Amino acid sequence: MECDKCDRDAVHHAAYSGAHLCGHHLCESVERRVRRRIRQDDLLPDDATPENPQRWVIGLSGGKDSVVLTQILAETFDADPRVELVALSIHEGIEGYRDESLAACNELTAELDVTHETVSYAEEFDVRMDEVVEDDPENMAPCAYCGVFRRDLLEAYAAAYDADKLLTGHNLDDEAQTALMNFFEGDLHQMATHYDASLGPFPDRTPTDRFVPRAKPLRDVPEKEVALYAHLRDLPAHITECPHASEAYRGEIRDLLLSMEEDHPGTRHSIMAGYEELAALAAEKYRDEATHDGDLSPCVECGSTTARDVCRKCSLLESIRAA
Ligand code: SF4
Repeated sequence: MECDKCDRDAVHHAAYSGAHLCGHHLCESVERRVRRRIRQDDLLPDDATPENPQRWVIGLSGGKDSVVLTQILAETFDADPRVELVALSIHEGIEGYRDESLAACNELTAELDVTHETVSYAEEFDVRMDEVVEDDPENMAPCAYCGVFRRDLLEAYAAAYDADKLLTGHNLDDEAQTALMNFFEGDLHQMATHYDASLGPFPDRTPTDRFVPRAKPLRDVPEKEVALYAHLRDLPAHITECPHASEAYRGEIRDLLLSMEEDHPGTRHSIMAGYEELAALAAEKYRDEATHDGDLSPCVECGSTTARDVCRKCSLLESIRAA
């Protein structure tokens, strides 16, 4: 089959749009969608200037999504002094897994000349995920601990770098899965905070200047196209799955969505269109109560803002140390 835009062979058929694209035009299409999302989400405000640039911290794991995001952002803003990029990687302490993906991050950021920082659970919390999985003091899935620690570090470092935005590489499939999970769980509050970056990145937090707003510029691009982009451009993405990956429920939703998409192309896009409308209503409902900081106070252990006496990260660390 020929590409719809030129006479080269198509490498991809996007059933949801009917498009057949060659490698060149697929890459162009992915980049166009990322840049359009940046414009639509107003990530670059009018008052950004070379003298007063925006600093964007990118969560860079070395997986295909964050690698593709970093590549496109670096190329888009290479000659634009209004944006400064800082890539931030986190080492969870997972033997033989994260070392390889960090090598990919180092290679990519050196190639793109993007500032790259790495922080680790070991240095920050004196914790390694391999040991947490072994002890499992709270009888939870590994990702439940890991997600809390990662979010804490991403947010803390984005704030410490005085970032204007914290960008993550969530793609269309990730977003549609989260939307469906929130819907199935009937979690309106989670929908509101997932939708509205101004409410803060985490469901139990509320909007204040202390939280760096999040953005997901890849969220219009299906996972398969992100993977193809990384492959076609020969980017140094690390594709091995984490040995502790444990989000079984998300896996079920993923399979469900893939099968729906196959039978009804466009399902992910329509889920997101409807979800954003629903979530906007939910955000409206919670906005008033969320603008009051009354329920929030500093964690008695680490000082981070929390709705509890001791934040979730500190209570998990306490259980791990006691195990
Ligand atoms: Fe952490 Fe789970 Fe991701 Fe592994 S898959 S790095 S345990 S969140």
